[in-house]
Amino acid sequence: MARYFIWTIGCQMNKAESQQIAGCLDSAGYQAATSFSDADLVVLNTCVVRQSAENKVLGTLSLLKGLKTKHPDLQILVTGCFVNSDAKELKNRFPHVDLLFKPGDYPELIAWGHKQGIPIEQRLLRYPRNDGWMASLPCAFIPIIQGCDNFCSYCIVPYRRGREVSRPLEEIVCEVEELVRRGIKEVALLGQNVDSYGHDLPGRSDLADLLNELSSIDDLVRIRFLTNHPKDISLKLIEAMASLDKVCEHLELPVQSGDNDILKAMRRGYTVEQYRELVHTIRHKIPQISLSTDIIVGFPGETEEQFERSLSLVQEVRFDVVHIAAYSPRSGTIAWREYQDDIPADMKKERLNKIEELQTAIASEINSQLQGKEVEVLVEGRKKGRWFGRTRSNKLVFFEDAGEWQGQLARIQIAKTSPWSLGGQVKNKY
Ligand code: SAM
Ligand code: SF4
Repeated sequence: MARYFIWTIGCQMNKAESQQIAGCLDSAGYQAATSFSDADLVVLNTCVVRQSAENKVLGTLSLLKGLKTKHPDLQILVTGCFVNSDAKELKNRFPHVDLLFKPGDYPELIAWGHKQGIPIEQRLLRYPRNDGWMASLPCAFIPIIQGCDNFCSYCIVPYRRGREVSRPLEEIVCEVEELVRRGIKEVALLGQNVDSYGHDLPGRSDLADLLNELSSIDDLVRIRFLTNHPKDISLKLIEAMASLDKVCEHLELPVQSGDNDILKAMRRGYTVEQYRELVHTIRHKIPQISLSTDIIVGFPGETEEQFERSLSLVQEVRFDVVHIAAYSPRSGTIAWREYQDDIPADMKKERLNKIEELQTAIASEINSQLQGKEVEVLVEGRKKGRWFGRTRSNKLVFFEDAGEWQGQLARIQIAKTSPWSLGGQVKNKY
């Protein structure tokens, strides 16, 4: 039986799309391989949001060149944000690649499959997870809106993933119903900007409407959604979160900078004051909310004072999680055209470390408040003899127990906390 191996880096959307591609290949009779070297077909699902990610893609492509020389029948497919609109140029640079297709561009994958005699069916893309996968994982990522219309000055995503296109609400509800019938308990709705969901649909249903519809699916236990844009998140959505029990108390709300001039140069469309007010409203309506954010340090021209404003915003807001990135110029973006990447790498690193250090202390304090408390954990798997899963607030919890917990909801009493995870003992099953 032919075997495939999928290599994925980048965001949750890439992970979701890799699951879909895996489902397609499973259904077409392929079997999953454990490495490049024992596969007949490999798919690289790529990210180029930062130069470091792009370098990994280039390294892997060169490794595969060697493999293809040894095994000329090996099929190499590349998707994700590495694939730009000039496929011809990429094809010339990487002649060992058999197919380049844009993220989510399945018609191209299907057409290629048919030419190769791989019978990929369009309908399988809707419910692509095979039963083996379903039997184990209790959570599924569901892309609900593709692309991004925002053009933040530093970001390459709109150039690679195109403009926003929402999936019809009924189609998503059908998919989730089917997944729940097959055992899924939690769904994470994905988009580069989920708050824009529906603006392009007839009838203009929005994310709050979708959350309402999904909440009425009986055996669905948890609903999450990411990523939010501070300029687009609506009061209606916050109120829906507050009132719908199945919607988890967790929000990804990237701020990117604590300085208004930098936010303007980033074209984020909000001020620090507006962001602060938004956090206040969210915390007022949903007191248990756990907040994550993204911050870029070393954006062109960022002075020490401007950086300090990001640092003090982190201090003030007390996020549960902060993802910090050093600015990386991306060819073709507005910032790449208009600004010089003038902050030296060691200064970027120093700023990144400062925020990381502060955030580690904050997360440590926040998590220590859970000591002795009971939390609900949806168990995702086992690692080094311990079960692990996540709370509704998206905190990672480990516990030891001889029982079978895969895909189950467990009530865990927290005995140990750290900035990154929690540990505890089973109190009882739900
Ligand atoms: N749509 C989300 C938002 O509005 O923030 C995030 C999507 S973006 C692909 C994921 C994260 O990568 C961003 O939040 C940002 O912090 C980081 N990022 C994007 N472009 C970057 C760049 N050129 N340099 C450094 N970090 C970058
Ligand atoms: Fe990139 Fe901004 Fe769109 Fe997020 S909202 S994907 S950062 S352009």
